[in-house]
Amino acid sequence: MSLAKSPWIIHVNCNSCNGCDIEVVACLTPLYDAERFGVLNIGTPKQADIMVVTGSVNYKNVNVLKNIYNQIPDPKVVLAVGACASTGGIFHDCYNVIGGVDQVIPVDAYVPGCCPKPEAILDGVVAALSILENKKKGNIKGKEVPLKGNEVPSNA
Ligand code: SF4
Repeated sequence: MSLAKSPWIIHVNCNSCNGCDIEVVACLTPLYDAERFGVLNIGTPKQADIMVVTGSVNYKNVNVLKNIYNQIPDPKVVLAVGACASTGGIFHDCYNVIGGVDQVIPVDAYVPGCCPKPEAILDGVVAALSILENKKKGNIKGKEVPLKGNEVPSNA
């Protein structure tokens, strides 16, 4: 059976203001009905195929994000949802913010916006499905990311 027809998604809220998360939840309601793509929102990384990340990365959550990423089996796809997850957004120059998700783990697709509309998030999920299928065909594996390397700087 095609993995792209029944992917499981884990949603990780890094440091979001919850604006993006409300739109992610809206995607799961009957109005937008993300499950029509076969998507199921689950709570454990060990059963996930796609990681949807909202919010920017900071020195407190960086290892949590890396740990979740490392636990997702290959092939896996990371979707950064919103300006904060993509670049750090309005928090990019805060003293405790490292930046967007791609500063610490590989990101496969980005959904722009602050906050993105549910339609845009669904577009990102559909893009993630085809990336996942291509990764599966090409047997592309994610690299384990080391937990060290993002320690709090002395001036933070
Ligand atoms: S992109 Fe905008 S809505 Fe989303 S977490 Fe950042 S500030 Fe909030």
